[in-house]
Amino acid sequence: MEEKCLCEPNEILIFSCAGSSNVGQIANQAAVRLAQEGIGRYFCLAGIGGHVSGMIESTKAGKMLIAIDGCPVGCAKKTLEHTGFNINEYVQVTDLGIEKNHDLDILAPDVDNVVQHLESQISRRRGFL
Ligand code: SF4
Repeated sequence: MEEKCLCEPNEILIFSCAGSSNVGQIANQAAVRLAQEGIGRYFCLAGIGGHVSGMIESTKAGKMLIAIDGCPVGCAKKTLEHTGFNINEYVQVTDLGIEKNHDLDILAPDVDNVVQHLESQISRRRGFL
């Protein structure tokens, strides 16, 4: 049986790769939307990569870690795992059928797609679905 998480939104930490491509920026916008909708808190991946002690400690206090990567290179996932964190929910934007390019034009429906995918995954983990 899948483990249920009773965590509060402020205990759900969201990281995105925020990479320099359309899919990296879609990952960033999806994380912003999830935070603005009160699903969780958007945290700084760069602080984890930089081993900033306060951010490491704050992340240790999180109960559910969400990571959004733009593409299979998986920079957010690798950064978190390299620092010893386990990711509870994870998505790569390209896995949702969105092709990577470097024009940095992002489409609202693509952001919606990532947000809806993660909302569903998080709700299921919290026992709401
Ligand atoms: S996961 Fe892909 S899009 Fe994101 S930072 Fe890495 S290479 Fe760029």
